[in-house]
Amino acid sequence: MSKDRPGAGRDVLLVVDVQNDFCPGGNLAVPRGDEVVPIINRLASAFAHVVLTQDWHPAGHRSFASSHPGRRPYETIQVAYGAQILWPDHCVQGTSGAALHRDLQVAHAQLVLRKGYHCDVDSYSAFFENDRRTHTGLAGYLRERGLGRIFIVGLALDFCVRYSAEDGRREGFDVVVIEDACRGIDLDNSVAATRRALQELEVDRIAAGAIV
Ligand SMILES: [Zn+2]
Repeated sequence: MSKDRPGAGRDVLLVVDVQNDFCPGGNLAVPRGDEVVPIINRLASAFAHVVLTQDWHPAGHRSFASSHPGRRPYETIQVAYGAQILWPDHCVQGTSGAALHRDLQVAHAQLVLRKGYHCDVDSYSAFFENDRRTHTGLAGYLRERGLGRIFIVGLALDFCVRYSAEDGRREGFDVVVIEDACRGIDLDNSVAATRRALQELEVDRIAAGAIV
């Protein structure tokens, strides 16, 4: 990581999907997902620029196992854009499960970017939907605002954080994942695969203590 003090200038903290459904008690709970909240609160206080994402599906979304009769959550099916893991219903627009965790203290966040709102396409990444073609608009937003180094935190490490980090690199941004401010789902060793993928893409992985 460069020696610049993180949190100022062209840096942005990207807080991925810290929503009730991804926390214990939610419909797609990430183990110990709520533990990231106090760490993110501490980090956010060090960043002038904070962007939040929110998974935001219409009811009956194609990524839900319930939309495919006979299928169960965590099975994989083939859809138009390739493999799709089927999830329990989660983060349905306007529900309490889709709301940001109530203890998240990021009032100074400048953008809440919603994703996954097209009925037939899932969107793990904050930059592209899972068809890998449809932009969310985030890359353009960050460029127009002169933000070039992205520190990513949130849920889940091995899905939305990973995809966001990979796409951020491909879009030409510097990317750092603050790993203790993330938690993973870990399907079929997906956390280990995430660490390998990030290393190959030269995404730095650091601990929150390196910043605050
Ligand atoms: Zn989702």
